[in-house]
Amino acid sequence: MKYYSTNKNTPDVSLKEAVVKGLAADNGLFMPEKIERFEPSFFENIQNLTFQEIAFEVAKKFFGDDIEESKLREIVYDTLQFDCPVAKVTDSIYSLELFHGPTLAFKDVGARFMARLLQHFLGKQEKLVNVLVATSGDTGSAVANGFLGVDGIHVHVLYPKGKVSLIQESQFTTLGQNITALEVDGTFDDCQHLVKTAFLDKELNDKLVLTSANSINVARFLPQAFYYFNAYARLKENGVLDGKDFVVSVPSGNFGNLTAGLIAGEMGLPVKQFIAANNANDVVFEYLKSGNYKTRPSVETIANAMDVGAPSNFARILDLFDHSHKTISEKIKGYRYSDDEIRQIIDKVYQETGYLCDPHGACGFESLADFLNENQVGVFLETAHPAKFTETVEKVIGKGNVALPEKLAAFMKGKKQSSLLTKEYEVFKDYLLSTSE
Ligand SMILES: *Cc1c(COP(=O)(O)O)cnc(C)c1O
Repeated sequence: MKYYSTNKNTPDVSLKEAVVKGLAADNGLFMPEKIERFEPSFFENIQNLTFQEIAFEVAKKFFGDDIEESKLREIVYDTLQFDCPVAKVTDSIYSLELFHGPTLAFKDVGARFMARLLQHFLGKQEKLVNVLVATSGDTGSAVANGFLGVDGIHVHVLYPKGKVSLIQESQFTTLGQNITALEVDGTFDDCQHLVKTAFLDKELNDKLVLTSANSINVARFLPQAFYYFNAYARLKENGVLDGKDFVVSVPSGNFGNLTAGLIAGEMGLPVKQFIAANNANDVVFEYLKSGNYKTRPSVETIANAMDVGAPSNFARILDLFDHSHKTISEKIKGYRYSDDEIRQIIDKVYQETGYLCDPHGACGFESLADFLNENQVGVFLETAHPAKFTETVEKVIGKGNVALPEKLAAFMKGKKQSSLLTKEYEVFKDYLLSTSE
């Protein structure tokens, strides 16, 4: 299958090229040239398939032309060494728990898939491949852990100094080996800007093999469709969907996760309504209301993985629906929550149901509570484990009430190793050039 750029100013490329390059030459984002629909019979029987089996069927629709079936199965099954189950929160609201992977956030799925796909494509390449990744918290840890120890690949994680939690930081600064953490004196948008500039820098690209592992990479973003199908299958299996419509709410920052869901919808997954839940970084919420898309610098919130002022994947949403505000505002309903509201939601849901949401999932829950009618069942994406945000969550529900999972405790014991950089591009470039000497 070919991949085109959302800016449509550069020739189409192969899957391999899209994965290795990350960003198109005209600064656009790659999109698959066609989105194949499943037959209705697939959805009639989907409840009989396991998560891995479903994911493999979805993966074949995307990657089946480009990767041998047995290899693709191996990559999918090896990526999904953990489950993405649904948990009941209320009679009509379910949590799609995406925190059972190694770093306890949904980005493990895409990052692990991408690491395996890249390794498959690059095989025994002579030159070291440099993966550049900007993170607002969870991407860095998922990518670093997804690539840890993979031969021939070095990962450089850029993160905004002082703007990620201690637990998040420990997950990508303590690994060593082929992982370097770069602490940037700036915001997440500054980090993202450095990475984007590096990809467009001819001199740098002549000397180094650079690739991106941000959610803009098709190898990370498309596999996120897997768990939307699984959520539907598991609710159908439980009989919860009998006679009801399926609604999905996605706590959104860079909008990669939601875009993957929208693509699942285009493949035939029967989703009645998608919801985008935002924090105070609400440029898409404003667009849905007014039709005006105006990016802004991000502001800090307690749902910090959604602190994005210029969401990269919005270009994909525009492309998917032919830039029609009418279509997009029908496909996606927008909600936004202040920090105070997010705290109140965490508290309310915990008191009333015993379920503990993280600050991102809380936005997803509340948007469903507001949106759903009695003929609908909703799933919100619980994008990270609440223990990744212990400081915030314990301020709401009381100290000592969030148990630290063993996987997280292990990271906290490691020693932090990172290099401090300013947000100036020349400084970053010199650093990258120095690694090739
Ligand atoms: C990355 C992240 C988000 C935002 O996902 P996007 O795909 O960037 O919209 C939401 N919640 C958590 C916990 C995340 O790590």
